Amino acid sequence: MDVARQHVLVVGLGKSGAAAALFLRQRGARVTVSDTKTEDELREQIPQLLDAGVTVETGGHGERTFRGQDLIVVSPGVPVETPQLRQARELGIPIIGEIELASRFLRGHLVAITGSNGKTTTTALTGKIIARGGRPALVGGNIGTPAVTLAAESTPGSFVVLEVSSFQLETIRTFHPQVAVVLNITPDHLDRHNTFQAYVDAKARIFENQGETDYTVLNADDPACTGLAGRTRARVVWFSRSREVEHGAWVKDGTIVFRDQGSDREIMPASATRLKGAHNLENVLAAVCVGMLTQIEPGCIRRAVEEFKAVEHRLEYVTTIRGVEYYNDSKATNVDATLKALESFAGNIHLILGGKDKGSDYSVLNPLLRERVKRVYTIGAAAGKIESQVSGAALEPAGTLDVAVRKAAAAAVPGDVVLLAPACASFDQFQNYEQRGRAFKQVVLELAEKAGAA
Ligand code: ADP
Repeated sequence: MDVARQHVLVVGLGKSGAAAALFLRQRGARVTVSDTKTEDELREQIPQLLDAGVTVETGGHGERTFRGQDLIVVSPGVPVETPQLRQARELGIPIIGEIELASRFLRGHLVAITGSNGKTTTTALTGKIIARGGRPALVGGNIGTPAVTLAAESTPGSFVVLEVSSFQLETIRTFHPQVAVVLNITPDHLDRHNTFQAYVDAKARIFENQGETDYTVLNADDPACTGLAGRTRARVVWFSRSREVEHGAWVKDGTIVFRDQGSDREIMPASATRLKGAHNLENVLAAVCVGMLTQIEPGCIRRAVEEFKAVEHRLEYVTTIRGVEYYNDSKATNVDATLKALESFAGNIHLILGGKDKGSDYSVLNPLLRERVKRVYTIGAAAGKIESQVSGAALEPAGTLDVAVRKAAAAAVPGDVVLLAPACASFDQFQNYEQRGRAFKQVVLELAEKAGAA
């Protein structure tokens, strides 16, 4: 793809939008970026772009901005059906996302990982496995480094591991990973995708350009994933923590094995991981599949898994205060992730729920609330909806995270667990889930300090 002297518009000035603009500029394109945020809100990103010769439009999109462009690159946060984009499409202007742009420049072997939950954990672990095997691994996408930035670094020998979201998959065209992984598909982002089917279809796009020599790795325990097997042209490789699979990774008498052409290769005991919860075993199994498919030695796979600790804000252990354990799962931004967090503890949980609702049904939590949760503390804009839908545990409206942690700490007794797994986005009270997770840890560490001083 040659973008020199082409007029390119980048819509949305997030991390990947800014990276795309700079990348295009370096390749000689005439680049404009346009964002609805104000100049003040974007003051950190703007100087670097201006220095690079990018035209920056803030506070909304001008009437003429979308015309006369040769290409439009949209950020994952921008809905593809805005009037301006619809009009541009009618004018025949190609509209792609940053992942698609990157894939046209990326060199080497491409592994792409999607799913409703577990993407970051699995992507990071897969990168470690490949690196442990002595291969040059580049890790990015939705996690950390934008894919276009990796494109510049990649060589024909690179193994590029990309985390891709359903939003990013909505704007691909020729994106073609040799190994595509779909970890699970459970209701999420229904505020944007409207129906579950539309969400499944967006995820399924990860393998739409694959052929017979490629691999699609699917979760045999997830009904939406099994439904995808007939839709890919690639060879299907399965992972399961509950049953035997024909080709792929499964757990045989407590040992993770990889089956290929009828023979099982032992990889490691399922207990060898430091990650908590059955859901993380699924992530490990998926990463094992990728490791085996990219010819990494089982011993290296095992070592990488053993060394790997929880990624921050993903069921992250914070500390223990007077016999009460505190866990930060701020990244549990949907109901399924919260369910998985609850399943990871035997009981006695004080659960902090709430934030910005994404059109979720919280009543699915009720059986586990009844079984394992002592008390639910509600926070944020979704509190009212949650209070009207959940039952089975005592309910305590707390309003803010700070109050919720203090109430939980006051009520908990030795042997209990205080868990932030809010099942909601954070944007009503925080900038993002990272800030929410850090705020949680800060209050907890203050309480720990006070307890230590007492
Ligand atoms: P993603 O990048 O898809 O959001 P993360 O690895 O960041 O995935 O984890 C997001 C949340 O989902 C965390 O709360 C984590 O504990 C939970 N989680 C991780 N893996 C899984 C899985 N396989 N199934 C369900 N929930 C998971």
